Amino acid sequence: MAEKNIFEKIIDRELPADIVFENERILAIQDIAPKAPVHLLIMPKKVIHDIQSISEEDLPLIGECVIVAQKLAEQFNVQGGYRLLTNCGPSAGQSVFHLHFHLLGGRPLGMMG
Ligand code: 5GP
Repeated sequence: MAEKNIFEKIIDRELPADIVFENERILAIQDIAPKAPVHLLIMPKKVIHDIQSISEEDLPLIGECVIVAQKLAEQFNVQGGYRLLTNCGPSAGQSVFHLHFHLLGGRPLGMMG
């Protein structure tokens, strides 16, 4: 079996994390190196490497990630303005190859570079 990456270890409770949401399918944690006052990571527990790897059967899971993001945005009081993004592949800045969505907010985020 392939070596687990950091997020798989966090999902399996082999590494600690500051968990802000969890159900049977999804985990959301605080980013360890926040780029904004609010920086959360929302991820399906299912092993999916990146957004390019999802299939049609994963669509409900991706939709649920968005609903979780909405609820967390309200909980962290950034519902009026936040960025929800996923990096796909090393050239886009992906460093952990387990699909996750960054939820960033709490300061003006500017235009995408
Ligand atoms: P990516 O670069 O793959 O889009 O995003 C990975 C994110 O995971 C980065 O923002 C990074 O700060 C965060 N990260 C890396 N290692 C850990 C960790 O061990 N714990 C937590 N909570 N976040 C991590």
